[in-house]
Amino acid sequence: MDEILIAEALNGQVRIHIADTTALVEEAMEAHAMAPTSCAALGRLLTGAALLASDLKKDDEKITVTVNGHGPAGTLIAQAKGNGDVRGLIGDPALYMFNEATGKLDVGRAVGRNGYLTVMRDMGLKDPFTGTVNLVSGEIGEDLAYYLALSEQVNSVVSVGVLTDPEKGVRAAGGLIISLLPNVPEETIEEVEKIAAGMEHISAYLDRGMGTEDILRALFDDAVILGRKDVRWHCDCSREHFMDALATISKEDLQEMIEAGNTEEIVCHFCNKKYYFTTEDLKEILRRQGVEDR
Ligand SMILES: [Zn+2]
Repeated sequence: MDEILIAEALNGQVRIHIADTTALVEEAMEAHAMAPTSCAALGRLLTGAALLASDLKKDDEKITVTVNGHGPAGTLIAQAKGNGDVRGLIGDPALYMFNEATGKLDVGRAVGRNGYLTVMRDMGLKDPFTGTVNLVSGEIGEDLAYYLALSEQVNSVVSVGVLTDPEKGVRAAGGLIISLLPNVPEETIEEVEKIAAGMEHISAYLDRGMGTEDILRALFDDAVILGRKDVRWHCDCSREHFMDALATISKEDLQEMIEAGNTEEIVCHFCNKKYYFTTEDLKEILRRQGVEDR
């Protein structure tokens, strides 16, 4: 079961969020039929969004992270809700790009670095909070750390990773954010830098069978667990949602669609689920519009 562990350590001066998102990223890979590099890129972003959303208090509050680095991957969107639901999409799901020098999937080149990362915090208020930063590397983790520092004034270490396998698909996926409280002493900053430098890739820990708590204990001696949150791949689209969308089409256009006599297919871009609307359905929408106009 995927989860995010929330803890504090170093005398309460750092906050730690550790995510195991292996199942979630696996489901995303299936839903979008993603090749390894696309999967690693979107998997990292989904994990980052889930980590940011793990502090949300209400089920319907949500965080949407959008990345576009003008690379072949196109636009990536990850959305995570307070209830633990995560969904997302990527412009090109078919990328397989390998970096010979590092022996790793080349997420940075797939995403590109000539662009931006935007975080929208929607707390159900009129105006959602939005922060945008330029990309640092397109590797997602560094970009999220840069966003947190610049837009939210939080100094942090962010690591997100996806380990793929030609046979098993996603072997391990997860992430971690170590954030420093404001005005911590220099020793604490040095201590965190030391821990970050000695840290392995989060997906490597998970791949060895370590859980989020094992990883926490491996990194910090004095960690105190504050909470846990389940996360999952889930899109909340519905037939009713797309009915409402169709109802915004003008009467004339709906009439034309009905006369053409075709069944309309609508695909949810977040989960690729297909919804079909027959001419009878369209007539029903037209009737509803008529009622509302009276
Ligand atoms: Zn959907």
